[in-house]
Amino acid sequence: MKCFYDPAQDAVGTCKSCGKGLSPNHLTDLGKGLACRDRCEGDVKALITLIDRNIASSAATNQILKRSSLTAYGSGTFLFAMGLIFVFVGLKNRQLDFPIYLGGAFTAYGLWTLSRSFRHAAIVSQLPEESPPKA
Ligand SMILES: [Zn+2]
Repeated sequence: MKCFYDPAQDAVGTCKSCGKGLSPNHLTDLGKGLACRDRCEGDVKALITLIDRNIASSAATNQILKRSSLTAYGSGTFLFAMGLIFVFVGLKNRQLDFPIYLGGAFTAYGLWTLSRSFRHAAIVSQLPEESPPKA
């Protein structure tokens, strides 16, 4: 590959932002990527920062997703149990139909929430275990 800015020179790398081939005279090495000198340094610095931030936050993101799954499981269980209690109270006291309807709605919503939490847990369990990189 030849240098985009000086076709007489061989490229020794490519710009992390625009992908153009670069000779040593037309590149800036930013440590984690090369940039077109005086053109793409800002974009490449922003890309490097974005990648570093993404790597650092991925472990926390996985933990948040796992906790969210547990919260949905707890909520579904609570709603289902409360629904059963309302239905039971309604059936014991036949003067009130409202607890039966309310309990039915709670039970159905609890089952739906539990179902979603199981599907979510299956997806989350496939996420890789990651530890944040040492800075
Ligand atoms: Zn460039």
